Amino acid sequence: MKTFTAIAGHIHTATGQPFVALSTCRIIGGDINAAFCLEGFAAPYFVKLNRADLLPMFQAEFAGLQAIAATDTVRVPRAVLSGTANGQAYLVLEHIVFGQAKRQSWHTLGRQLADLHRQPQAYFGWQRDNTIGSTPQPNAASADWLAFWRDQRLAYQLQLAASNGYRGNLQRLGERLCANMGVFFAGYRLLPSLLHGDLWGGNVAFDQQGTPVIFDPACYYGDREADLAMTSLFGGFAAEFYAAYQEHWPLDEGYAVRKILYNLYHILNHLNLFGGHYLSQAENMIALLLAELA
Ligand code: ADP
Repeated sequence: MKTFTAIAGHIHTATGQPFVALSTCRIIGGDINAAFCLEGFAAPYFVKLNRADLLPMFQAEFAGLQAIAATDTVRVPRAVLSGTANGQAYLVLEHIVFGQAKRQSWHTLGRQLADLHRQPQAYFGWQRDNTIGSTPQPNAASADWLAFWRDQRLAYQLQLAASNGYRGNLQRLGERLCANMGVFFAGYRLLPSLLHGDLWGGNVAFDQQGTPVIFDPACYYGDREADLAMTSLFGGFAAEFYAAYQEHWPLDEGYAVRKILYNLYHILNHLNLFGGHYLSQAENMIALLLAELA
């Protein structure tokens, strides 16, 4: 409770609203951090804790939530503060009581995500590096999306894979793909959009009114298709979501192939985090893409 008492003091200072920690409850569901509901006499807060040296990860999540909130398009938990207390790093957000999707909820999310993506951005990359899962994610600014995706996404993960012992076939296939991936973008008009960056089903919920909420982002400016592609990994979103997105900002026909290129990044990341069958999945995805070149 010592940590939460200290965090409550920081909340008081940051918000100017008196807040005393009365109790906490553990929230399950996250992959990386310990998550809690922190209750006092005022509205509760959602708190994530991790090792003190991981504070930059929470600072980057904080910045991402603020960036999405500033677009006024899709609901994210309000970012309250991040810092360290009692030797631990913390992130404090508005606590949201989640409910069920209502009839229009997925449709609304599709429209809102298209609205988020539509806001013009100046470059590919972001104001800071962040993490994807617990893996570092570099975001150095670039005017060249292809170079960005090749060097800061695929080649970065491939190099990590090599240092994790995945050499040989994966690396040979990966090199060929990186050298030739420009083909998949012929005739496609690329625009930088603010991306959630980690938009799988586990990072989407609905509040008690059925309003969509997205959380746990890994933001950067990139091709909107990268966000859309990830929604189809690990379960997929409801059909109404895709219909609404298409209605508001139709996708280019080359998306079907680029989707594999974009999801390869997350599969390589899963290989680096968890190993196992992600190796053959990554190799199969690269082989599929290389077959498109023939
Ligand atoms: P991690 O960074 O460990 O992956 P998440 O950000 O995904 O953690 O949060 C863990 C779980 O906490 C989520 O699956 C979700 O159910 C719940 N959650 C996330 N944000 C909030 C919030 N602002 N209010 C209430 N519950 C939340």
